[in-house]
Amino acid sequence: MQVIWSPQLDEKDAQWRDAALQVSNTLARHAADVDGRQRYPGEAVDALHAAGVTGMFLPVEYGGGGASATAFCAVMEELAQVCASTAGVVATLQLGAQPVLAVGSAAQKQKYLNALTRERKAISFALSEREAGSDPANMTAAASRERGGWRIRGEKAWIGNGGLSDSYVVFAQTVPGSGRKGIAAFIVEVADGGVTADAPEDKMGMRGTSNCTIRFDTWVADDRMLAPPGEALRTALSALTVGRVTVAAQALGMALGSYNAAARRATVRKAFGQPLVDHQGIGFQLAEVSTRISAGRALCYQVARAYDAGEDISLLGAQAKLFCTEAAHAAVDLGVQVFGGEGFVKPSLVERLYRDQRATEIYEGTTEIQKLVIARGIKRQFQPGSNLGPA
Ligand SMILES: Cc1cc2nc3c(=O)[nH]c(=O)nc-3n(C[C@H](O)[C@H](O)[C@H](O)COP(=O)(O)OP(=O)(O)OC[C@H]3O[C@@H](n4cnc5c(N)ncnc54)[C@H](O)[C@@H]3O)c2cc1C
Repeated sequence: MQVIWSPQLDEKDAQWRDAALQVSNTLARHAADVDGRQRYPGEAVDALHAAGVTGMFLPVEYGGGGASATAFCAVMEELAQVCASTAGVVATLQLGAQPVLAVGSAAQKQKYLNALTRERKAISFALSEREAGSDPANMTAAASRERGGWRIRGEKAWIGNGGLSDSYVVFAQTVPGSGRKGIAAFIVEVADGGVTADAPEDKMGMRGTSNCTIRFDTWVADDRMLAPPGEALRTALSALTVGRVTVAAQALGMALGSYNAAARRATVRKAFGQPLVDHQGIGFQLAEVSTRISAGRALCYQVARAYDAGEDISLLGAQAKLFCTEAAHAAVDLGVQVFGGEGFVKPSLVERLYRDQRATEIYEGTTEIQKLVIARGIKRQFQPGSNLGPA
């Protein structure tokens, strides 16, 4: 009997999931401490690195695992059920490397992707600014010509693995006021000098991931340009497109963690002489949440498989993130409710997941931005002159 729909994973994908599962005990032991002290989950990341999981998404030729997006989703789900922060650290490594993998020169791929897998030198994705998050075309970080290379000046906000990474993919404006047409991307190494990290943000959730403002006033040579003006925002958005499916899977992991705990609790905890689950007010809510998790999983894995098959998932990926993060919101809310007073007191899995989950509705494009992406896609499909448009 199955209540929550489970994806059929092929042998290779299942091996990756099992590798993550093996680290689960380490995660479970440390997750509350990671959250409570807002510290990096070093022991879990070490174990995941030893299992090849931190570089699983990169091709074998760069020391990676050559894993599919489907496998990556399965790993995200497993990790996030127990320690969402650890899932976030691994996802952040993927997001930083993705633009290099997608559009990097042979030399850039060789250097930065091998550095990640073989030397544990991380690269972060630095797009957002305090005044330009959902609307990155409005960024003010600037790149100007200097001594045959580029001077990069500006600040990037909330950057994942900030202060821990060795390099940053920095998006910067080359022609002030020109919007997306002027935005280029560069690889900046901390060793270049002129890169400083503020103290990590004190976050409500995902407290084991380091997010901070990074300030740049540095010079890089031409060969550090990753994407030329006009191409960089497209590169960023395509990295976010696959990243969104990953976030959908993270959210599902959090939803499953909370739902499993709540369902277990509701069958043993009695009120008014019967288990909570037998009170329709609770039983029906569990039924609704389980159905949303099943539906979200089916969508998320279908989209991951479409990506693995080379299909364009820009709209379906946005739908997966939108649906799964909202389903997860309902699931973690119910988790706390079912546990009552105990669910409101630390340390508690449901209390932690309740706070962690909220970030999934914000990073890699907020809920509203997913709706914007989908609505624009609908307009493109149905406008006059298009396939589905009016005759
Ligand atoms: C934990 C965490 C990790 C992060 N990691 C990274 C990272 O590694 N790299 C990086 O570059 N950034 C990162 N970010 C930043 C993140 O991507 C931005 O916070 C996000 O894109 C939203 O931008 P904003 O915070 O400026 O919100 P705003 O853009 O100011 O939006 C505020 C609100 O307005 C809504 N809104 C905006 N525009 C519209 C519209 N057109 N229609 C309707 N509603 C709208 C938004 O949905 C949101 O609800 C991270 C953020 C968090 C919280």
